[in-house]
Amino acid sequence: MEGAFKKRTSKAGVTVVPRPETLSKATWLPALAKGLGVTMRHFFTNIATGKDIATIQYPEAKAPYPHRYRGLHRLMLREDGSVRCVACMCCPTACPAHCITIVAEETGNPNEKRPAIFEIDELRCVVCGLCVEACPCDAIRMDTGRHAPAVEERADGIIDKETMLSMGSRSTAVQGGVGPNWRSR
Ligand code: SF4
Ligand code: SF4
Repeated sequence: MEGAFKKRTSKAGVTVVPRPETLSKATWLPALAKGLGVTMRHFFTNIATGKDIATIQYPEAKAPYPHRYRGLHRLMLREDGSVRCVACMCCPTACPAHCITIVAEETGNPNEKRPAIFEIDELRCVVCGLCVEACPCDAIRMDTGRHAPAVEERADGIIDKETMLSMGSRSTAVQGGVGPNWRSR
């Protein structure tokens, strides 16, 4: 039976690989023990030092976000505390996900309107930032540093005007985007 363990080629041209000749090769136990040894060495090293642990215990611990990270939307305010948005519809026009809904209303000023309803479906949003880029008056930003909320119902993923205004702050921007350091506020 010794010849059965030698490498040979059959008449059909198939190479027959010989079987392992020793018990250790046959069972792969030494290789298994060696692999487990590496695993256990990393396990105990990380338990002791934590130097190679990449997992972050979110939400207790958070990774630092990039300076230009796009978070949850917010609506900005004028100096008098009213909403800066003039319901020009530039942002829903630019939005590739069609997730912005605005219903305009009169302000009494014939030159501009304001949003009676301003909603964004954060579950459809692809976080592209085009709405922010499209806005001519710094009325919408994505600099909250907050994630879209975890929700159980799709409808709960829609944030409304009041929610976005509650995260807003006053902006010194003037129409057309001109003004000193206006993005710092
Ligand atoms: S970030 Fe992009 S997808 Fe999200 S609301 Fe703005 S334009 Fe639409
Ligand atoms: S682009 Fe700006 S001003 Fe125009 S509707 Fe959107 S948030 Fe309002």
